Amino acid sequence: MDKRKIKRQNRQAMTAGYYFDNAATTLISEAALKTYTETARDYFGNPSAAHREGAKAHACLEECRKDIAGYLGIRPSSLFFTSGATEAISIVFSSLLHAKRPGRVITSAIEHEAVLGWKGILTELGWKFDTLRAKGGFVKAEDLEAALDEDVRLVAVQLVNNVTGAIQDIPSLVNVVRKAEERYGRRIFFFCDSVQALGKIQFSLSGLDVDGASFSAHKIRGPRGIGALYLKKGDIQVLSKAGGQERGVRGGTENLPAIAAFRTALLEDHHRESAERLCSRLRSELEGAGIRMLSPAEQHSPYILSFTTPLPSEVLTRMMADKGYCISSGSACSNNARGKAEGVILAMGFSSKDAGGAIRVSFCGEESEESVSALAEEIIRAVSGFRR
Ligand code: PLP
Repeated sequence: MDKRKIKRQNRQAMTAGYYFDNAATTLISEAALKTYTETARDYFGNPSAAHREGAKAHACLEECRKDIAGYLGIRPSSLFFTSGATEAISIVFSSLLHAKRPGRVITSAIEHEAVLGWKGILTELGWKFDTLRAKGGFVKAEDLEAALDEDVRLVAVQLVNNVTGAIQDIPSLVNVVRKAEERYGRRIFFFCDSVQALGKIQFSLSGLDVDGASFSAHKIRGPRGIGALYLKKGDIQVLSKAGGQERGVRGGTENLPAIAAFRTALLEDHHRESAERLCSRLRSELEGAGIRMLSPAEQHSPYILSFTTPLPSEVLTRMMADKGYCISSGSACSNNARGKAEGVILAMGFSSKDAGGAIRVSFCGEESEESVSALAEEIIRAVSGFRR
């Protein structure tokens, strides 16, 4: 297909409105794409090389680190580039394998699979891996407090849920963990997967007082295959230092074009007010037609809205796909998306019938109000056709 036609279609996907799956991934922004190609061309040296091109690339890398760290309100030396959030999470979880004896990990049952996937590996090695329920979408500080004991080494609770957009009260959860540290006289690492929060809700990492956090560029109109790990203290034990890049936390030649494009995408406007308007419009139009929300009404990211209908989710997503809409039955960034979303919705206390009809619509904030109303209309038409 001709390049101009693809470009026009991609822009239409975002603005004229048929792409509503931005929590899975986003269309890279024009500015980020431009940065990517320019950096690949103009800063091609290996940042570790001792010659002029290497020094130029190294300076660019450190500029990007400074700007992204500045945005997050942290020291540049506490930010490490990775291939994405999954790898950032793996660095933290795999560090447990250095422990002299297995201990306990506590997470929530609504974490992304990149966290929950560690259950199999760790339990096989004798670790206890406990998942807290999240009634209504939220992890309760009392539940975490009751679950903590002196064997716990790591607590992992996300900031924004990728299925419902629920925003966790991280400060109160961290507070409980800090008290337990005092009680047991040992360090407990608090990890916060912040992928769906970056650029979308306001937070300060130092304010949250977490020990580690993960980020990903492709959820904010940056490129795939680039993300970051925040470590309050850089003293984590990693499985392999490889070539020693990223101060030994993540070896391997840095993906500088992607890192630079990540910075560009992050510093762009994320259209938060518009996302709020679009989200509340969709919510009220669907609720007006008797469709039940799964996303909470408060403490909620306006970029994600989940609801349930009597139609099985794969039937409704297929019907919408036939009309040209991209929506999802849950966490479409992994296989068996429906199963993963169902786990989250069941852990929130909804029935399996509600979970079976779960649909996620996610915005980038640049969609038009008309396109959101048109989507709502199609959903309502499909559901009322089924009810009849
Ligand atoms: N955590 C959450 C909450 C996510 O939504 C995702 C992406 O789907 C990830 C982690 C994994 O991110 P990445 O694709 O950068 O590995």
